[in-house]
Amino acid sequence: MRQLSRALIVVLLIGAIGFDRATAQRSAPPVFYRLSFPELEHHWMQVEVTFSDLAPGPFELRMSRSSPGRYSLHDFAKNVYDVHVFAADRTELETTRPDPYGWSVSGHRGNATVTYKVFGDRVDGTYLAIDTTHAHINMPAAFMWARGLEDRPITILLEQPAGMQWKVATQLHNSGTLSAPNLQYFMDSPIEFGAISLREFEVGSNKFRFAMHHTGTEVELDRLVKDVEKIVKQEGAIFDEYPEYEPGYYTFLADYLPYASGDGMEHRNSTVMTGTATIAGDRMSILDTVAHEFFHCWNVERIRPKSLEPFDFDRANVSGELWLAEGFTQYYGPLALQRAGLVDLASTAATLTGLVEAVSAPGHLVRSAEEMSQMAAFIDGGRTMDTTNWSITNISYYPYGGAIALALDLTLRDRSDGRLSLDDFMRAMWRTYGKPGGSREGYVDRPYTIGDAETTLASVSGDRAFARDFFRRFIQGHDVADYAHLLARAGFVVRKRTPGSAWLGDLRIDAHNGIRVGALIPPTWPVYRSGLEQDDLLQRLDGRPINGEGDISTVLHQHKPGDSVSIVFTDRTGKPATATVTLAENPHVDIVPSESAGGTLTDAQRAFRGQWLGAK
Ligand SMILES: [Zn+2]
Repeated sequence: MRQLSRALIVVLLIGAIGFDRATAQRSAPPVFYRLSFPELEHHWMQVEVTFSDLAPGPFELRMSRSSPGRYSLHDFAKNVYDVHVFAADRTELETTRPDPYGWSVSGHRGNATVTYKVFGDRVDGTYLAIDTTHAHINMPAAFMWARGLEDRPITILLEQPAGMQWKVATQLHNSGTLSAPNLQYFMDSPIEFGAISLREFEVGSNKFRFAMHHTGTEVELDRLVKDVEKIVKQEGAIFDEYPEYEPGYYTFLADYLPYASGDGMEHRNSTVMTGTATIAGDRMSILDTVAHEFFHCWNVERIRPKSLEPFDFDRANVSGELWLAEGFTQYYGPLALQRAGLVDLASTAATLTGLVEAVSAPGHLVRSAEEMSQMAAFIDGGRTMDTTNWSITNISYYPYGGAIALALDLTLRDRSDGRLSLDDFMRAMWRTYGKPGGSREGYVDRPYTIGDAETTLASVSGDRAFARDFFRRFIQGHDVADYAHLLARAGFVVRKRTPGSAWLGDLRIDAHNGIRVGALIPPTWPVYRSGLEQDDLLQRLDGRPINGEGDISTVLHQHKPGDSVSIVFTDRTGKPATATVTLAENPHVDIVPSESAGGTLTDAQRAFRGQWLGAK
């Protein structure tokens, strides 16, 4: 049995005053968290949580299984240990484990203080990271909560580690005391507590903070934040306004450290951005993350799919709308960089190439964009022990949705002669579903369904049949838009990367232990029909012994599309096989500005491109 500190007893007594079971949860005493960091170098923190005004009977303590904006399970209970629960009179209460994710507590008599340790050593948007420079806290990874008290306000106290003068950056309300109005808001409010540099800027009456924990200089940070401001302005121009950020400002929480993991994680009034990049070495990768994450303060945080509202901490939410929530954000990030003048046309063309190549990958024939969105629970940070065939049946909803956004943007511009664009669609989604906000902070009262998105497109375009057809073909079906036609109006050419070259598929060779096929073969590759598959031992192509990928290239260079070549291999069971492969033309494309492909830009193309990619 452990003893509680004197200070905590005082807190418990204060919490007990005004006890009234009829009082609504919102006026109940706040749930109070106190954090201390006795051994930073060992990556754990001590948490004390006080719950008062508890209803009679056992109460249930939970560690979240998921985190807002993360679509898979993370089971944060795994890093929690040394758990004790005390009654107001300091006696330790008995706990049981009804499941791996929680504790059941009985005999509390209305008040309980829980103490535990939690380990965390991963700097990213999902987990907890504690070291001698900071406590980087994603709330679900760190904090137990009590079932039934989700609507109670929350306060949190961070004790300064011995010898440190750390600063706090967070979207939590800060009136001297850090607080959240309820559990949804609290869990969505990561905290960076550490050696951070802070910058502030305003756009109109809107306030923005950029908190950075990094290894670079203050001058580098000053210059970076100037570019962040340009992105914030370009994205604000799409919606004509900024959301009303609940604490009064929006905060970027940037953690760029040699031992950080690359990530960007949106929240309602903040974002966590992490990675190993330095401002001096790779500032564009940081700005790219800024552009993506900031767009989320509209798209997904407020223009929110119904399937994600409210966020479920006990299980993974399944959403068929991530092609819009994430994919359209994936499109707008680079577009904002171009409009802000932070990247050149060649770079934007390369981004567009990535989107069009992604949507053309074999998986588009298997799963629709809606179905790929529903795979997020398995793919977004989820792990599998067994083999999957996702490499040939799935495409990430990020570039897939980005390619849909590109098609829709150019289609709207094309059919309206530049009068309408995807910006109009996003603005309509914002005004209808995002801007009305929530009657409770941290909630969205008018989340949208996939049908609502289609209705909005029908209303923006003034053509219900067009909207139905677009959703049927490109979002719920398997069609790929005619990007060559659409991009031509903006003076871009979609051209074969290696025109006229023979191709049997993007065969990957694993040269360990013989020349084995290193990845699954999709049905769209010419070599598929030969029966060759992953792990098979490739021996001869067109009579030539194969000792590496170079030998395959040599054979292909000697042929043209339409030619047939023999293939000899041994499958992984040891059975020999011989077959014939009819070669196709390499289907990979590049998108390039017409003027760099030997063409000249017409005035109409220049105007179209300017409206699309020019500064707002
Ligand atoms: Zn995102």
